[in-house]
Amino acid sequence: MPSLNDIRSTFLNYFEKQGHRIVPSSPLVPRNDPTLMFTNSGMVQFKNLFTGVEHRDYTRATTSQKCVRAGGKHNDLDNVGYTARHHTFFEMLGNFSFGDYFKTEAIGFAYELITRDFGIDASRLLVTVYHTDDEAFEIWKKIGIPEDRIIRIATSDNFWQMGPTGPCGPCTEIFYDHGDHIWGGPPGSAEEDGDRYIEIWNIVFMQNEQFEDGSMRALDMQSIDTGMGLERIGALLQGKHDNYDTDLMRHLIEASANVTDGAPDGPGNVHHRVIADHLRSTSFLIADGVMPANDGRGYVLRRIMRRAMRHAHLLGAQDPVMHRLVPSLVHEMGAAYPELGQAQSLIEETLKQEETRFKQTLDRGLKLLDDELGKLPADAALPGETAFKLYDTFGFPLDLTQDALREKDRSVDTAGFDTAMAEQKAKARAAWSGSGEAADAAIWFDIADKHGTTDFLGYDTETAEGQI
Ligand code: ATP
Ligand code: MG
Ligand code: MG
Ligand code: MG
Repeated sequence: MPSLNDIRSTFLNYFEKQGHRIVPSSPLVPRNDPTLMFTNSGMVQFKNLFTGVEHRDYTRATTSQKCVRAGGKHNDLDNVGYTARHHTFFEMLGNFSFGDYFKTEAIGFAYELITRDFGIDASRLLVTVYHTDDEAFEIWKKIGIPEDRIIRIATSDNFWQMGPTGPCGPCTEIFYDHGDHIWGGPPGSAEEDGDRYIEIWNIVFMQNEQFEDGSMRALDMQSIDTGMGLERIGALLQGKHDNYDTDLMRHLIEASANVTDGAPDGPGNVHHRVIADHLRSTSFLIADGVMPANDGRGYVLRRIMRRAMRHAHLLGAQDPVMHRLVPSLVHEMGAAYPELGQAQSLIEETLKQEETRFKQTLDRGLKLLDDELGKLPADAALPGETAFKLYDTFGFPLDLTQDALREKDRSVDTAGFDTAMAEQKAKARAAWSGSGEAADAAIWFDIADKHGTTDFLGYDTETAEGQI
């Protein structure tokens, strides 16, 4: 059974043999790219090659890219613990052509690697194409995919965009049918969100660039950008359905159980999954220089850390535990990503400090939450002011409260939360203008309104992405 480390190597070696340069993963914080919070796909480091702004001494590249999807256009934070296929941190295997090969070769490589080198049963595959892309349809047909397993999709699912601006284009996605014992339907159907048909590989035909004003231009050259989730192909090749049952994730889940309830498959299983996932995203973010803060990227990190800590709390952990899991992670991934080992003590210290601090208010906040819920009718949403109090006094990011409520099938009045937040801002503004520094304060608030205040950046990453 190949490990995730083996599969990563097989992928990179395959494309190296096809003339691709193996390029290291870029950091999770994109360089000089204010439009993006974290690197969310393999193409990010090559953005300027697609648009023709930059040239390198290769036209074919292959990578295993560290990705975080916890905000902005691609946000999987709320999927973790609930689906078999989503992480906040994952590795995206990719091959890229910069004005070199296009659709036929890209589809050919993917099909050959999957069915020949990885030995996956072709009759289980299903592909999608953008509804107008007859060319991609024909290529798949010629390769041997039956027509009824080539699905035309008209939505943005088959028109890939990194973020609100940047290179983009129609795509073709490869799905694997895990069998009718699992709930879910083929792409485009009402049950497509289920985990029966799992998307393993996305091949993007980079041919457009999207601008902020909504306009789009055709790029001068036609390029290829692909992404395959290592954990998803890993699950398949290890005979599993669920990403969290792969060797690497399983070891982290066991490590989580060892420091808490001792039962990886007990009733706390969902908590262990969340902890294993969040351990990876927080550790990799810290290794790449992000530190917990009250705004921007640092606040997203803090939110992920605090969510993980609440799950550890639910497992009965009395003392900080996240930092104790770091050695297991370094053991699993340190060889492929040396930055992890180099930053190990910083990661451990940061996690420990944050957990120690948050512990003091976490217990009290959760108690307040329970008390408030007890006072409400069974189906009522939590009032916005309560969520705001949890945020302001107990350090509960809004999404942490929502995560806690979701387990109980409850929701929160987010509009009420926004109102409470706005009121507090107004109060702060009034207090500040009385301080004799009114002019400075006015300037500060202007800037804050334009670019977002720390608090606003905090809970609304959708806005934050444009604001950083
Ligand atoms: P899905 O529809 O399942 O959410 P996606 O279409 O959003 O996936 P892409 O943006 O096409 O994903 O990313 C390319 C590949 O990266 C996917 O085909 C999948 O294998 C992998 N991938 C995407 N998001 C995640 C995630 N959150 N966790 C693990 N792997 C992922
Ligand atoms: Mg997605
Ligand atoms: Mg998809
Ligand atoms: Mg996709």
